[in-house]
Amino acid sequence: MAGKTLFWDVDTQADFLRPEGKLYVPGSEKIVPNLRRLTQWARKNHVLVVASADAHQEGDEEFHLYPPHCLAGTPGQKKVPETTLSNQRVIPNQPVELAGELEQAEQIVVEKQKFNVFTNPNTDKLLERLGKELDIVLYGVVTEVCVAAAARGLLERGHRVRLVRDAIHHLEEAQAKELLEEVERRGGRLVTTDEVTGALKN
Ligand SMILES: [Zn+2]
Repeated sequence: MAGKTLFWDVDTQADFLRPEGKLYVPGSEKIVPNLRRLTQWARKNHVLVVASADAHQEGDEEFHLYPPHCLAGTPGQKKVPETTLSNQRVIPNQPVELAGELEQAEQIVVEKQKFNVFTNPNTDKLLERLGKELDIVLYGVVTEVCVAAAARGLLERGHRVRLVRDAIHHLEEAQAKELLEEVERRGGRLVTTDEVTGALKN
């Protein structure tokens, strides 16, 4: 029996998706129309969107590998409008009590300072609360980095993952291809935006 459906948006923030962004993912602007379609479909169909978001501080570990990006409080850290829903809650990267009315939000933003969203100490609590064997529709950037970490973490926790192959983008194509193969090998599925927005129609 399929569990509840949840959309999982990875780091669709201005610094990654906009050509002027601090860590622009070349070509990622092409997926923005699909990101928008998925986001609007979720809103209309009352499907909750969990969205991870980098919220870095100066000196974060990751800046040894990548130029500084998504610094908390800067315009580049904001989610792009195409993936932003107005009824939103933000879960910071520190232990917090999850509010009782959380599920009434359209979008729950989980802040992080490392690739893996499960480094936010609240992520597991949030998922446990949302249910077991969730049917998760996963998309965003960067395929072989933060999307990969989310896919692995979700599969390890026993959730179903549908990776939206035309709503993700990579930096390294070969590594991204490996991730897609890994997801399928581990029981996840590769789908398209059309399939998601058509097949789930209420
Ligand atoms: Zn980062």
